Amino acid sequence: MYRTHTCGELRAQHTNTTVTLAGWVQTIRKFGSITFTDLRDRYGITQLLFNEALNARLDAQPLGREYVIQVTGKVVERSNKNAKIPTGDIEIEVTDFTIINVAATPPFTIEEETDGGDELRMKYRYLDLRRPTLRRNMELRYKVNRSVRNYLDSQGFWDIETPFLIRSTPEGARDFVVPSRMNEGQYYALPQSPQTFKQLLMVSGYDRYYQIVKCFRDEDLRADRQPEFTQVDCEMSFVEQEDILNTFEGLFKHVFYDVKGVSITEAFPRMTWDDAMWHYGNDKPDIRFEMKIANLKTPVGGTSFDFGGGKEGVVFPVFANAESVLAISVPGCSEYTRKQVDELTEWVKRPQIGMSGLVYIRINADGSCKSSVDKFFDEVKLKEIATACHASPGDLILLLAGAETRTRKAMSELRLEMGNRLGLRNPDVYKPLWVIDFPLLEHDEEANRWVARHHPFTSPKPEHIEWMNDLSKYADIKANAYDIVLNGTEIGGGSIRIFRRDLQEKMFAALGMSKEEAQDKFGFLMGAFEYGAPPHGGIAFGFDRLCALLGGQESIRDYIAFPKNNSGRDVMLDAPSGIDDNQKKELGLN
Ligand code: ASP
Repeated sequence: MYRTHTCGELRAQHTNTTVTLAGWVQTIRKFGSITFTDLRDRYGITQLLFNEALNARLDAQPLGREYVIQVTGKVVERSNKNAKIPTGDIEIEVTDFTIINVAATPPFTIEEETDGGDELRMKYRYLDLRRPTLRRNMELRYKVNRSVRNYLDSQGFWDIETPFLIRSTPEGARDFVVPSRMNEGQYYALPQSPQTFKQLLMVSGYDRYYQIVKCFRDEDLRADRQPEFTQVDCEMSFVEQEDILNTFEGLFKHVFYDVKGVSITEAFPRMTWDDAMWHYGNDKPDIRFEMKIANLKTPVGGTSFDFGGGKEGVVFPVFANAESVLAISVPGCSEYTRKQVDELTEWVKRPQIGMSGLVYIRINADGSCKSSVDKFFDEVKLKEIATACHASPGDLILLLAGAETRTRKAMSELRLEMGNRLGLRNPDVYKPLWVIDFPLLEHDEEANRWVARHHPFTSPKPEHIEWMNDLSKYADIKANAYDIVLNGTEIGGGSIRIFRRDLQEKMFAALGMSKEEAQDKFGFLMGAFEYGAPPHGGIAFGFDRLCALLGGQESIRDYIAFPKNNSGRDVMLDAPSGIDDNQKKELGLN
């Protein structure tokens, strides 16, 4: 028997028991003729005390960091207790030990905080995973997985596997392809998601399907994405949007409570895509704080604020010439110093934000205004602007002007930045939100064509189907599509699907696909729709991101046991790699 207890288990009540532990040597501290060692395993750390009697043996068989050892000894109460660890009341007075395996000196410290850089940690990921930080993340991931499964099982969902070697499933990214040896010159694609399969399972009558499944997308790895990632993928039949939102709101509430002990009793708020863009400038608003955008001037909807008739009739050309003028009122920041405002101006000028300047108006405690555009606007006008921005005394109004899309995006970023600076984005506060009524289509300016906003299987709102015959209406067609957003991060999305052949054909046509191409690529799905397809819809969540959010961290990488780096490489395996000539020949690759 290797051990009687784990390294996280012993407490004061075990005093005087003889135990055997096994694990890794984390630290060795020699004090004269006695040696203290911390022994680590997945469960925790236990302090070992090697006293004088073992000196000779330790000299002959010295211990080293990360050696795997087995020790037997007596549990004794520590005189110097350590309240920071659960086993901190006791230590083991070692009577016997065995070195089971030696270890080379690890390339970085294997403790809570490490001195190893990212690449080094990835190269020796098996050592990195020994660190308590990552160990906790893996445990959390496992718990979220278990919690999701328990909930879905309780709701009658079946876990059904779908294949990895398939034909393309469009989710808006490039496919990873796998050459076929048996069918020379032909290729499989790895699924970007199980989308078409889960729909086929609905045609088979298996309503309530789920899978915690790998998806593969060959995208340029923008911040914190992985070429292979995990989704909780679900589909249901005989449902409307409302049923799906309710079922999965239930899932989130269950997981939050189960994993974090956070009980969310109220219904998740819902916001239309139009409102999200209008008030927050993006489709995944962080609603932990207000600071809504004031749409003073925009080419879309609403009336525009009259900036004219300012000081002695002068016009402020920046506002007069801009397509859009947007503002936020930042509470309690009217006393920002000149330096702070200059720094914010530099911030909006960064290439990632791309604005050419920032206008501010301070609303002093007495209600008077002071602005960077005092030359152009008198106090009366400034107060009118302040009213239009719903600003209160003590606020600092920040205004951006420029082309609509860029300005809206920049204002959305600025709002989040101010939220950060004011500490309004507390990771321990969870504010979920459904964003609904997404547009069905989106114009791809570069390719100059319409693409599916979600994916081509998403159904338009029934009352908008007719607009699919009118190109000028494309931008207005809304879909029964929804996203779940948590604290400003999209963690999942889905839609009610098309389940009739004629409508699916219409959708492919809207996307500029010929009948032949649609038949070639998706004939199997449209064919299935001819054999009694039920109405259906579903959703998928990014599992890695959900875990990171529940762990209160930004990076998904530290919640994946063996992730890829920013260039999509596995630095431990050194993959991707070349293959030898024979293999190439077999695959018909030259
Ligand atoms: N397949 C979709 C996705 O991966 C989710 C869904 O529509 O259910 O985003």
